[in-house]
Amino acid sequence: MTNVQAPGPVTAGPGAPSAERLTATVAALAAPEFTGRRTGTPGGRSAREYLAGQLRQARARASLEEFAVPAVRELYATPAAVWTTPDGASHTLAHRRDFAEHLATADVPGLRPGPLAAGTDPGWTGRWVLVPALTPEVISQAQAAGAGLLVPRGTDEAGWMPKMIAGPATAPVPILGIRHDLHQRMLAERGELSASAPVRTVAVTGTNVHGVLADPAPGGVSVLLTAHYDGVGDDPQQRFPAAGDNASGCAVILEAARILASVLPAGTGLAVAFLDAEEAGAWGSAHHAPQVTAGTYVINVDGAAELADAAAVEAGARPGRCWPRSTRQGGRRECRYGQRPCPRTTAATPPPGCPRQGSEWECPATRPPPRRSIVSSRRPWSRQPGWSSRR
Ligand SMILES: [Zn+2]
Repeated sequence: MTNVQAPGPVTAGPGAPSAERLTATVAALAAPEFTGRRTGTPGGRSAREYLAGQLRQARARASLEEFAVPAVRELYATPAAVWTTPDGASHTLAHRRDFAEHLATADVPGLRPGPLAAGTDPGWTGRWVLVPALTPEVISQAQAAGAGLLVPRGTDEAGWMPKMIAGPATAPVPILGIRHDLHQRMLAERGELSASAPVRTVAVTGTNVHGVLADPAPGGVSVLLTAHYDGVGDDPQQRFPAAGDNASGCAVILEAARILASVLPAGTGLAVAFLDAEEAGAWGSAHHAPQVTAGTYVINVDGAAELADAAAVEAGARPGRCWPRSTRQGGRRECRYGQRPCPRTTAATPPPGCPRQGSEWECPATRPPPRRSIVSSRRPWSRQPGWSSRR
C-alpha cells in the first residue's frame, strides 16, 4: 500500500483550478443545443466534439472510439394520463411527478382507456390493474387478459421520478409507475384511467473520447482520468441538462488534466477518457477498460460537488480482474461485483483470469474490494433545479 500525503488545497498560481473554466465547461455541456447528451443523439455528438476540442486545446492527442449500444429506451412523445374518479371528475396527471413510463412497458402510442382494478380483483380483462410490484406471474396474467399494469413508484427529494433509459427486458404489456400516494388513492377510489406510454427501443452507436497528454516512459507510472459525458437526454417537452451528472465530473477531469500536464514528473503517463453510454448500462467504460494497462492509476469522477465538501471513494478492480460494470436494475444501480452477480465486460479479449460466459467475460467470484464512503447529508447541487440530470 502507498501512503499519499495530501498537500492541501492549491488556491493560487499556475497549479490552481479555475472556477471560471470549471463553470464554463459545465454550462457548455448543459446547454440546450446538447439536448441532455443521450448516447447516439446529435446532442451527444456535439458534446464529444466540444470535449475533443477542449482536449486538443490542452495539447492532448484526441481520438474517438465507437462501439455498439444494443438497446436504449427512448420516449418519442410525452406520455399522458387522465384519471377519472367515480364522481366524474377528470384529473390530468403530470408526467414524471405523478406518473412515468416503466422501462419494461410495451409501446402505447395513444391513450388507452380502462377501468381501474386491484391485483386481487377477479377479471383483469381490459383494465388498468394496480399491483404492488412487477413479477413474471403478474406480467403473464396481464398479457393473457389484455390488461395494463400500474406499479407504485417513489420520487426524489424534489418530487421528480428519475429518468432512466436502460433496465429490465421489455414486457408485452403496458406498464406505468404511479407515485406511491396516488397509487394508494387510486386503489381506494378506483374509476378509470386513460394513459399512453410512447416508448421504443433503439440501437445506437456510442463514442468515447480519448486524449493522451503525456506518454509514460518505459516501465513508468500512468494516470488515467475518466468521467462519463453522456446524460439520459431531454424528454420531448422537458429538459434534462445533466449538469450535476455528469457535466460537473467532465469539468473536473478537464481541469485536473490541464493542471497535471504541467506538474507531473517527466516520464509519467497522463491520459483522459470521456466515456459515453454510462446511463445506458456503462457501455463506454466496458469498452475502454480492456485498453487500460495493468498498474495504471485510474480516477473517475461522477457527480462532482454532489456531496458538497465530502466524497464517496470506491476502490477499483485490482489488476488481473474483470472490470466491474454497474447496471440499473429495477430502478436501482447495482454494482455487480464479488459475491453479488459477477461483473461482466463485452471486451474482445478477456482480462487475465476471466472465463468466457456466452459473448461476455465473467469474473471469478471474489470478495468485493474495500469501499470507503465519506458521506455528507448536504446535497446542494441536486436541490437546484436544472443542475441535476434528473431534476
Ligand atoms: Zn453518473
